Amino acid sequence: MPELPEVETIVRGIRPFLLGRRLVRISLSHHDVLRGVSRRRLIRDLTGATVREVFRRAKHAVLDLGERRLVVQPGMTGSLVVHGRPLTAEEARYAVLRALLDDGRELVYRDVRRLGTLLLLDQRGWQRYNDSIGPEPLDEGFTPERLGLALQRSRQSVKKVIMDQRHLAGVGNIYANEALFAAGIDPSKPAVRLTEDDHRRLHAEIRRILLAAITSSGTTFRDYRTGTGEPGNFQLELHVYGREGEPCRQCGTRLTGTHAIDARISVFCHRCQS
Ligand SMILES: [Zn+2]
Repeated sequence: MPELPEVETIVRGIRPFLLGRRLVRISLSHHDVLRGVSRRRLIRDLTGATVREVFRRAKHAVLDLGERRLVVQPGMTGSLVVHGRPLTAEEARYAVLRALLDDGRELVYRDVRRLGTLLLLDQRGWQRYNDSIGPEPLDEGFTPERLGLALQRSRQSVKKVIMDQRHLAGVGNIYANEALFAAGIDPSKPAVRLTEDDHRRLHAEIRRILLAAITSSGTTFRDYRTGTGEPGNFQLELHVYGREGEPCRQCGTRLTGTHAIDARISVFCHRCQS
């Protein structure tokens, strides 16, 4: 699933094309991506709406349409692109939501396996949604102390805590693995056993890696594309994720891969991380 850097890249790519534009025609090929809104209401509420702002919250792209907000959570195979030309047959085939803009461009949410979700929230729904998600790691309010509080209160592994969206917004498996390697912390370590020094290092590495990944337009393994349809480049800079069995870039030890921590792949160096 696209994480914070990928969705941030998508948002930066589509924002200039959407700001101030009116959505003049909406089509939806499948309604199984909708949550809490019917196809009819979605089409009715989006048609004629003007895009006031486009931003990211956690791993979601948000279109502020005034009264309502469209929240797009791209799934593993989802992309959100503004096209300035007619779609190719291949692009049109998996287009789930198409929104024709008043300048002739088209915003397309494409999702091959339809693992993503679309929400349409009013002010109250937005408040509830926003309150259910933890701090943004790149905001000033996210401090080592705030991270430390979440870690100290948990009986889970550190990796689970930093991927839990209630504690921290936008970090998924790729960047959790990378941040823990960079901070020298074993992903399976109980969160409560981390020291204040660990909190500071982990906080700094989470931010550094997310910012570096945004600079590289995110990580593309398969389907992720930027808001202009290009692949990202951060896969070239990964130290552990996707490198199970390969030598650690720091010490040469074979990297360990395990699914035992949270059922997802955790890759780490047993010499550099403790
Ligand atoms: Zn190592």
